[in-house]
Amino acid sequence: VLSTMQDVPLTVTRILRHGTTVHGSSQVITWTGEAAPQRRSFREIGERSAQLAHALREDLGVDGDERVATFMWNNAEHVEAYFAVPCMGAVLHTLNLRLPADQLTWIVNHAADRVIIVNGSLIPLLAPLLPQLPTVEHLVVSGPGDRSPLAGIQAQVHEYEDLIAAKPTAYDWPELDERTAAAMCYTSGTTGDPKGVVYSHRSIYLHSMQVNMSESMGLTDADTTLVVVPQFHVNAWGLPHATLMAGVNMLMPDRFLQPAPLAEMIETERPTHAAAVPTIWQGLLAELSAKPRDVSSLGQVTIGGSACPPSLMEAFDKLGMRVCHAWGMTETSPLGTVARPPAKALGTDEEFAYRLTQGRFPTGVEARLVGPGGEHLPWDGESAGELEVRGPWIAGAYYGGAGGEELKPEDKFSADGWLKTGDVGVISSDGFLTLTDRAKDVIKSGGEWISSVELENAIMAHPDVAEAAVVAVPDDKWGERPLATVVLKEGASLEYAALRDFLTGTIAKWQLPERWAIVPAVPKTSVGKFDKKVLRRQYADGELD
Ligand code: ADP
Repeated sequence: VLSTMQDVPLTVTRILRHGTTVHGSSQVITWTGEAAPQRRSFREIGERSAQLAHALREDLGVDGDERVATFMWNNAEHVEAYFAVPCMGAVLHTLNLRLPADQLTWIVNHAADRVIIVNGSLIPLLAPLLPQLPTVEHLVVSGPGDRSPLAGIQAQVHEYEDLIAAKPTAYDWPELDERTAAAMCYTSGTTGDPKGVVYSHRSIYLHSMQVNMSESMGLTDADTTLVVVPQFHVNAWGLPHATLMAGVNMLMPDRFLQPAPLAEMIETERPTHAAAVPTIWQGLLAELSAKPRDVSSLGQVTIGGSACPPSLMEAFDKLGMRVCHAWGMTETSPLGTVARPPAKALGTDEEFAYRLTQGRFPTGVEARLVGPGGEHLPWDGESAGELEVRGPWIAGAYYGGAGGEELKPEDKFSADGWLKTGDVGVISSDGFLTLTDRAKDVIKSGGEWISSVELENAIMAHPDVAEAAVVAVPDDKWGERPLATVVLKEGASLEYAALRDFLTGTIAKWQLPERWAIVPAVPKTSVGKFDKKVLRRQYADGELD
């Protein structure tokens, strides 16, 4: 029997229409570094998105599913592109401006981007790449910054504001098939070359609904979210779409991502929620202890992208900022799990332990654990295996195949179509995921596995330690052993013996690293995660420098 329901496609256009009418007075607030931030209502964002779509179609000739890329900070114009491009039927391609030049060039060519919208302040990063980007016909420049490095380039250069100024503020958006491509994003390459993930209108719509559930971020029009997680990193965790659905104000830091301006933004604009990777929050904590500010508005902070160290969660709790831990990846749109403790644990000793897990699977994400022999493992909180997931906002393939490295599709997708996440962990009987490591980061010592993340967390709990990253190094006797690189807090000093004493009790004796190095900083990837590829290379001979 067929249902009697209307078959209405789930499109980004419907999110745009809803957000710019029902929630037309909610705002995108962009930090300018000057006395006043720029404020733009969702209604104005909608009008300007229509103007941008007119310009892209009529002046730049963007048609069909051509790719329009952005090379931008988080700001109002970037939100406009987020809606104009998919709603006109083209594909928004957010470029990660922190990637090395060779990867960026590879990605733009692979996606065959025809237009790049770029922030003026980022021209110095983009201009040197342009001679190697033959598909790029148009550059649209927005915001302050010297344009002179673009003189003489092959692509046509336009000013964003001039381009949209005289255009109509309404657009006859086409009715699109919900399965068509809306946006694309390449993985940041923490464990290999970039791979392109293409989101559909439908996957974005359903993912946004999940973000808005109270067991997820659950924000409303009473909230303002500080979106520190870049719009070029997995759609800023879905916030630009989810906020238009729910009328949540967005506070956008633009290029002001250093701890001091972030603290100032929080104090003056009083956001109620913020989202970013742990390294950003470590920086903010240091800033706040050096110069305390009023951050009391910030009741909820979503942390993901890498494991949230317990010490960070405790420190934030003390400041009244409640951390909500979440797990995901570019391939999962990204929300895969969110760690809201179950009702039964609230107010008990178990509550904190639940919050430290990567979180619980929502309805839209099915999960299974696969052991080393390919066997499916029970959800008993003990059996560790590789996590595989499937669902309507989970990638089932990569754009144009697996990408530049030697990677076979079967390395990333199971024969029956599940995504192999490359993450290793356990799942409890009530559906909470605890990751012990990335498959590539686990230390295999004498036939046993040591979790690099567990060691890092234990070391970072030491009061003199600011950051710690642990990698496997080759060892004649054990195959591999852990090597710990430690960044000390300013002015602190620490002997290995003292650290070892501190770890004894928390960490099994055989897991304690014998090799450790005090370093000025841990190398980071383009999205602020510990870059273990670099560390492994640096200590490839198993010896300290
Ligand atoms: P890349 O794979 O290039 O780092 P992603 O941003 O897609 O780019 O990273 C996804 C990966 O980040 C996950 O597979 C997982 O290993 C890690 N990750 C994300 N969130 C968490 C978390 N809360 N705890 C531990 N690891 C996480």
